[in-house]
Amino acid sequence: MNAVEPEPILLRVEHLKKYFPIEKGFLKTVVGHVRAVDDVSLYIRRNETLGLVGESGSGKTTLGRCLLRAIEPTSGKIMFYPKSGESLDVMSLDARGLKEMRSKAQLVFQNPYSSLDPRKTVLQIVGEPLTLHKVAKGDELVERVQDLMQLVGLEIKHMNRYPHAFSGGQRQRIGIARALALKPEFIVADEPVSALDVSIQAQILNLLQDLRSELNLSFLFIAHGLSVIKHVSHRVAVMYVGKMVEMGTVGQLFENPRHPYTEALLSAIPTPDPDRRMERIILEGEVANPANPPSGCYFHPRCRYAVDLCKHETPPWVEDVPGHFVACHRSQELNLRGIPLE
Ligand code: SF4
Repeated sequence: MNAVEPEPILLRVEHLKKYFPIEKGFLKTVVGHVRAVDDVSLYIRRNETLGLVGESGSGKTTLGRCLLRAIEPTSGKIMFYPKSGESLDVMSLDARGLKEMRSKAQLVFQNPYSSLDPRKTVLQIVGEPLTLHKVAKGDELVERVQDLMQLVGLEIKHMNRYPHAFSGGQRQRIGIARALALKPEFIVADEPVSALDVSIQAQILNLLQDLRSELNLSFLFIAHGLSVIKHVSHRVAVMYVGKMVEMGTVGQLFENPRHPYTEALLSAIPTPDPDRRMERIILEGEVANPANPPSGCYFHPRCRYAVDLCKHETPPWVEDVPGHFVACHRSQELNLRGIPLE
């Protein structure tokens, strides 16, 4: 996004935590916590896609669900500023307020095979939010579902078919149509293409990008690796063991990474051009256990730049240069390698 005036903030998250208790014994005594989301702060602007990347178990899916309170966060602040209506303090919403918020903020699931009810037709699946929110019924409901099907590239003559009659890509289109039914402003897309064939992935990514600009949507786009993120995001956030380690524009993060974990993720992106290829950084050791994370910087046991301070002190989350946030004690002195964007 190169607009002179940045778009207003749609969602602001401050110090969000989600700790799952570890219970033991008949009395279910709490003996510890899994720190799935550990003091995360971020923001998403209107008409913007923030890519969220991290390895399995980094907490990105939990974070996405916490933003919509599909999972109850443990603590922190989530403010939602929709175009229409008042700003919402998401953590303090009652059941009615949450229902209203969910008409403006929706989730697209990772697996289009398990996320659609096999006993319902496309009309019932896509029309369900409209019925639940009492937005449309009868002929109007059918018309709205037909419009949504066309919007996502599905043929309306298939409206009375069941999910099993569709391919993976078409099922994901049904899931997207359902998410769009209530005209949301914000969508959490949780690895929406990772369960699809590579040949279909680009079609769904293009569809999401077209919908974003056509409908002025904002996305939190969750992905496993940086290659997909690069093509769909304006800004990127990187998570490691429940913590945010870096966030910036695609250009900042790819060309000038400031966290050693981001540098390692970038080195794993395949590129056919030998001049642009960087030496693959193999991370030693295992991803830290979020139930028993290391002291200091959680990344220190695997970081090739770690110094003594890293073992004892948690690096603060700071805005190193405007718009570029990082949590690394050595971000100012390290000269990390990125990859040039074409
Ligand atoms: Fe590596 Fe230390 Fe930076 Fe953590 S704080 S990423 S261990 S250099």
